[in-house]
Amino acid sequence: MENEKTEIKLMPKIELHVHIEGATSPQTYFSLAKKNQVKLPCNNLIEWKKYFNFTDFNHFIDVYGMAVSTIKKAEDLALIIEKFYEYQEQNNIIYSEAFLSASFLVETFRNQEILEAILFGKQQGENKYKTKINLIPDISRHLPETQSKVLELAIEGYRKGIFIGLGLGGMEVNYPTNLFTDTFSKAKETGLRVVAHAGEAVGPESIWEAINDLNVERIGHGIRSIDDENLIKYLRDNQTPVEVSPTSNYNLGIVSSSERHPIREMVDNGLNCSINTDDPEMFSTNISTEFELLYSQGFSLKELYQLNRNAIDSSFIDFDEKLKYHKILDEFKTSYNNVF
Ligand SMILES: [Zn+2]
Repeated sequence: MENEKTEIKLMPKIELHVHIEGATSPQTYFSLAKKNQVKLPCNNLIEWKKYFNFTDFNHFIDVYGMAVSTIKKAEDLALIIEKFYEYQEQNNIIYSEAFLSASFLVETFRNQEILEAILFGKQQGENKYKTKINLIPDISRHLPETQSKVLELAIEGYRKGIFIGLGLGGMEVNYPTNLFTDTFSKAKETGLRVVAHAGEAVGPESIWEAINDLNVERIGHGIRSIDDENLIKYLRDNQTPVEVSPTSNYNLGIVSSSERHPIREMVDNGLNCSINTDDPEMFSTNISTEFELLYSQGFSLKELYQLNRNAIDSSFIDFDEKLKYHKILDEFKTSYNNVF
């Protein structure tokens, strides 16, 4: 048992659903606020760290807004990208596909500034750390007016090798996917891979809409799929990847704290799920904690390896690169079993 827990912790991991802004530490935001003279509702770092901790949904939205408001200059953006590399490496994540809240960025910076800053942050990160990261700018549903600017940014970044996809996040309620159909079809035509958060705050109909309106290749959260047998069948038959973030769902009250997480039912129904953190710093979690949570809810070590491998296969990297990560996992498993 203890050996298995250590193995889960040390296992190299792959993550497909994580927001860079939600993985940035309160310390980093605090120092940016100081540098850029942004007023926070706290006098010192200790108070800010306390404030930063998750309490409820409205507070989470406030913290998110306040945190990103400290990013005032292109160099700040470069810094949070570089810090994200450090964070992923510290958490034993060998590859990730990460979201950037582009609806916010295009309101603050020019495209060229954004792309140069991201490129610089990526280069710094790649020079210092071994972890590999691909970026997906996302449109916030509740800011539909930003979508053409974000699309322009995504296409420009894609052509320069900075981005791999386009995402849809933000408030699911009141902002249906059909507001974004043209944007996503243009993104797809260009070669961008497309993903959307759906079936988190709204039921299975929202997942159907993301599939039918946007032709998405992966579903973020998607846990409400269990409420619709036909959808479960569709997701199983197509092996549509679903990016599951258990702690995020518990914190936001999407799943009640007294219930077992529905990922059990999803996996038992043959769905292609992966394990993710969503906004780890804001939800006080990390990827190992997510794996351990599922282990405590009855997932076997073998199943956890499989969920990790699902993330490799559901990523947008090419076949050879996928093989490389499978090999790293194979080697880890072999060496680990030899050690103990
Ligand atoms: Zn998310």
